[in-house]
Amino acid sequence: MPNASNSDSANAEEVALEGGCACGAVRYRLEEKPYDTGWCHCRVCQHVSGSGGMVFTTVHHDRYRILAGEDHIGRFASTSFGSRTFCRTCGSPLTIHVRHQPDEIDIAAGTLDDPEEIAPAYHLYTAEAPSWMPMMAFLPRYKALRPKTRGLEEGVTEAGSPP
Ligand SMILES: [Zn+2]
Ligand SMILES: [Zn+2]
Repeated sequence: MPNASNSDSANAEEVALEGGCACGAVRYRLEEKPYDTGWCHCRVCQHVSGSGGMVFTTVHHDRYRILAGEDHIGRFASTSFGSRTFCRTCGSPLTIHVRHQPDEIDIAAGTLDDPEEIAPAYHLYTAEAPSWMPMMAFLPRYKALRPKTRGLEEGVTEAGSPP
């Protein structure tokens, strides 16, 4: 008979999604079902994707495991409130970590081995999106962050420090 901890890890095994960068140097595993998936169209996402936006999904920080290529991972402060990681060899964006969600990490969903495992539920920072960016018509759109963002006071839609 499996004990409780065995069945927990079997369960974690079932939901584990893996992914990695374009060159294959960096590999990771999400050890819980990712949640809170959405598009972001901020200018940083435009720069790092070279496109009109990116999809991110979220897990708790301790559920994000680097399996390979830790030494290939670069990091930069992408805003006053967050940092991003990427593969230093191929440039693939990997994660965002923000100050107001210290125990969570956002994963660039296009790096999942099977991106069909997630589905975006909203569009953020649409005010910064280029006019040629197609939006999913049935999803809610927010000019910046959502007025209910974990870690921010209700109604606050910007995470940066005020100018
Ligand atoms: Zn790479
Ligand atoms: Zn963004």
